[in-house]
Amino acid sequence: MWLQLAMTATPRSLEGRRIWSGYALDLTEKRQLELELQVAATHDPLTALLNRRELLARLAHELARTQRYGRTLSIVVLDIDHFKAINDQHGHLAGDRVLVRVADVLRRSVREPDQTGRYGGEEFLLVLPETSLSEAIALAERVRERLQDVDIAGPEPSNRLSASFGITNVVPGDSNALERALARADQAMYEAKKAGRNCVRCIAV
Ligand code: GH3
Ligand code: MG
Ligand code: MG
Repeated sequence: MWLQLAMTATPRSLEGRRIWSGYALDLTEKRQLELELQVAATHDPLTALLNRRELLARLAHELARTQRYGRTLSIVVLDIDHFKAINDQHGHLAGDRVLVRVADVLRRSVREPDQTGRYGGEEFLLVLPETSLSEAIALAERVRERLQDVDIAGPEPSNRLSASFGITNVVPGDSNALERALARADQAMYEAKKAGRNCVRCIAV
C-alpha cells in the first residue's frame, strides 16, 4: 500500500522569505486497518469468498442492472453432496479443508465480472452477469468435473467429491426477481439431489 498522509501547511514569512510550516500525519496503518475491516465484513473467513450478505447485496445490484439495461443474468447454486459424512468420517477440520478447496475450484472457474460466494455451510452461489443459461450450464459442468479431483482424504474413487447444481436465469421485468430467482435455483438444486446428486439441473424463466 502507498504511504497515506494527511497534511496541512500554512505559508509564513521568515526574514523576508516565504516558508511553509505544518504537519503530516501518517494514516497508513489506519487505512490498512479500515481495509482489513472492510474485507472481514464482506468475506467468509474460511474460504475468503464473499459472505452471504455481501453476495446478496451484489446480486441485488446485478439484478437492478439487468432490469435497467435489459441484460441477461444467470445464477448457480451448488451444494456439496454428503458433506455431513465427510465431517463424520474424517473430522471437521478435513471438512473445512474441503470447503477451502471447493472455493479454489470456483475461483479458478469463473470470469472476472462473476461474483462467487459462500451462501451457507456447504452451499455456494455464483452470480454470472451477461451469461446465458447454456453458458451457465457449461460452467457448472466444468466445476462439477473439477470437483471430482478434490481429494477428501485419499485417492480412492469412493473419496471423490461431488456437488449438486441448480441453475436459473433472470430476465428484465420480473418483480421480486431476487427472491424468485433464488427459489428457482434452490428448487433446481433439489431436483439435482433427487436425481441422484453429482449433476446439474436448471429451471428457466
Ligand atoms: P446432501 O447430499 O443432501 O447435501 O447431504 P449433506 O450431508 O451434504 O447435507 P446436510 O445438510 O445433512 O449436512 C451439511 C453439513 O455441513 C452439516 C454441517 O455440520 C456441515 N457444515 C456446515 N458448515 C460447515 C463448516 O464450516 N465446516 C465444516 N467442516 N462443516 C460444516
Ligand atoms: Mg446444504
Ligand atoms: Mg450438502
